[in-house]
Amino acid sequence: MSDDTITASMPIFPEVKMNIVTPKAPVTGTVVKSEVCLKGGRKSAGFVRHVEIDISGTPLEGQCRAGQSFGIVAPGVDANGKPHKVRLYSLASPTCGEDGEGKVISTTPKRVIDEFTPQKDGDDPEKHELFLGVCSNYVCDLQVGDKVQVTGPSGKRFLLPVEHDKHDYIFMATGTGIAPFRSMCKDLFEHPSGPTTSQVHVVMGTPYTTDLLYDEFFCELEEKYENFHYHKAVSREKQTDGSRGLYVGQLVGQKYDEVFGPILSSDRGLMYMCGLVGMQFGIYQLFAEKQITDAYMTIKDELKDVCFSDWDREQMRRYIKPTHRMMVEVY
Ligand code: NAP
Repeated sequence: MSDDTITASMPIFPEVKMNIVTPKAPVTGTVVKSEVCLKGGRKSAGFVRHVEIDISGTPLEGQCRAGQSFGIVAPGVDANGKPHKVRLYSLASPTCGEDGEGKVISTTPKRVIDEFTPQKDGDDPEKHELFLGVCSNYVCDLQVGDKVQVTGPSGKRFLLPVEHDKHDYIFMATGTGIAPFRSMCKDLFEHPSGPTTSQVHVVMGTPYTTDLLYDEFFCELEEKYENFHYHKAVSREKQTDGSRGLYVGQLVGQKYDEVFGPILSSDRGLMYMCGLVGMQFGIYQLFAEKQITDAYMTIKDELKDVCFSDWDREQMRRYIKPTHRMMVEVY
């Protein structure tokens, strides 16, 4: 790819404000909605909610952009008697907020239900009681009317570009990683200046169909707009043709020639990934196989002579970096 092509396809991101409210002095928001985000009859053990927080009258009002995160400080103190550290949550709300005026933000917390595992020297190696974490269960427990300490916003690259219609979009998510793509799709299709003319693809990976978060919203977009496409990668259910469940990267690979390849290899394509870190490695190998690496990732010399199918996770973590058309938020 020539330098000219790279410059032409370079997304220009908006200037955003960050850390207007810091964890040292959080502001108070009020929960205005909390509802289950999963479908009835769910099969998996996870509990996910959609929680909306009114931030009106605080310095955060009108300042949270789709793709950014905000912080929540849980009440109480940690094991050392210090206030809990801030936890970050991806915004699920559009830039104009759930209310259209930037006064109500939302997020998609998932309950943490785990067993304690020793983390540091001095932790009892035999200890293994129920571990509920600090913040996500607290956020899921909040009732409408409850007050909550919030900070933010944070993030300056995982954003939509300034000129929406100059690019086409592939959004890949696993689980709660779908939150920022709900925000971005709302910005793209419900913008006051009208819906985008760009091609927009959402690829959502979950264990079961009942875990498809915001499924109705994405189905409605697909029904309403020809340029919106919704792909479901359900990993633990048989597909309609009887084949086994699949991951996001496998779905993108299967539909590469017909759907994703033409976008990714054009100079309009942008791709965003949010969710489990494993998804990123599958995509790196797929992009290497399809030889579309330049615009999306830099492969350091240490890996250049190793066949992509032999790359291990540690090598990919160390020697591959996303470039100007790949935006990644994975844990
Ligand atoms: P989940 O509902 O358990 O769904 C995860 C899906 O991804 C499952 O279908 C799983 O399949 C599949 N999967 C497992 N390994 C994969 C791989 N290597 N490639 C592709 N797919 C793979 O997800 P969740 O519990 O909500 O977890 C979401 C993750 O996103 C969390 O780690 C969270 O921290 C992160 N997240 C990050 C951000 C951010 O960075 N801003 C925001 C939100 C969420 P099987 O289980 O069937 O193997």
